[in-house]
Amino acid sequence: MNPEVLEQAARERDAADPLRGFRARFALPQAAGADGPVYLCGHSLGLMPLAARALVTEELDAWAQRAVEGHESGARPWIPYHENFAVPLAALTGAHPDEVVAMNSLTANLHFMLAAFYRPRGTRRRIVIEAGAFSSDRHAVASQIAWHGLDPQADLVELTPASGADLIEESAIEAYLAQHGPQVALVLWPSVQFRTGQVFDTARIAGAAHACGALVGFDLAHGIGNLPHRLHADQADFAVWCSYKYLNAGPGAIGGAFVHRRHLTAGVPGTRLEGWWGHEERTRFLMEPKFTAAAGAAAFQVSNPPILAAAPLLASLALFGEAGIEPLRRKSIALTAWLEELLAPLSGLVSLITPTDPARRGCQLSLRIAGGAQRGREVFERLTRAGVVGDWRAPDVIRLAPVPLYNSFLDVARGAVALTRAVRA
Ligand SMILES: *Cc1c(COP(=O)(O)O)cnc(C)c1O
Repeated sequence: MNPEVLEQAARERDAADPLRGFRARFALPQAAGADGPVYLCGHSLGLMPLAARALVTEELDAWAQRAVEGHESGARPWIPYHENFAVPLAALTGAHPDEVVAMNSLTANLHFMLAAFYRPRGTRRRIVIEAGAFSSDRHAVASQIAWHGLDPQADLVELTPASGADLIEESAIEAYLAQHGPQVALVLWPSVQFRTGQVFDTARIAGAAHACGALVGFDLAHGIGNLPHRLHADQADFAVWCSYKYLNAGPGAIGGAFVHRRHLTAGVPGTRLEGWWGHEERTRFLMEPKFTAAAGAAAFQVSNPPILAAAPLLASLALFGEAGIEPLRRKSIALTAWLEELLAPLSGLVSLITPTDPARRGCQLSLRIAGGAQRGREVFERLTRAGVVGDWRAPDVIRLAPVPLYNSFLDVARGAVALTRAVRA
């Protein structure tokens, strides 16, 4: 299809999109090209909701004008600030509000959750992750194993896809656990794999882990805000996430964690690492030596939260609340399917790593350019020069993600045209 015809078709799709208005509520990066850049990189850093500026300014003003009194007075006092996030985060994760808390950042939360949930005992010591896991997750898990005086070489298990495949099937996890279950303490798995964009069946993985007596944690870094989750119903023991990818809360924004209610009442298997912010709020400032846990996942907080790195999350979660994660998911499926369809003529030159089944992927498509990593890198650089912002993941993957809150069908059309030119050049 020629680019003008394609752009016209895209404009018609945009006109029929009930969520099209949300784009205007984000800052779109300034452009080199006349049309502005095509931002398809929300899987790495989400765009700034325009309302974030006012919310951050409000907190700077509160600090300037009220100083220490800002803890207890003003529009959003700082002491109970984290409470603002519970209901919207619960909606995105499929949790009860007392099961989620905004705190710290992702890897820090992973360490806190591993302290509480990884309790190697006897021969049940292993942690199972996917081969090619995000480096930080692997570092966290390996160092936790070592911290317990154990050997990561022996007790960190990395499941690999069938030979030659990019994707790993849930059945591979089930098969491993069926054979080695009694040695496994914990399964840590992403809800969406960062490099391939593959979505995993969290209920199925949790079921397999629990059936062999192991616990299960999920990393939602690439899942939260991308597609709906059902952490409570799926019986996740814990989950962690960051908020600067699909949650659009800005670089280094406050992260989050989920702890299933059964652990909130019965206690965690390991040791919950504690700090004053996890103390029951009413008596926190008595500063007594004995720790009395706050209700819910809030007990896992250790420090008072970074208000300036949390305020933008409120702006973003308000937009998610207005749009609804289910309508966003419907638009997302349509956007990504169209991108896939427009790239189909490149088959042989570009291969899709991400599953083609919409139920097994979110918005991201991961592409491999035929001819090797060097050639892939050249294509990626041409794409960048053409004003399309995606990213490159070593060794040889281009990731593009049309995000339903702010991307349009026109972005998808322009991205596809630019990639087609970059590949054929
Ligand atoms: C983005 C991402 C991280 C980043 O960790 P931070 O602690 O936020 O720096 C970690 N793990 C995964 C899977 C990610 O996608």
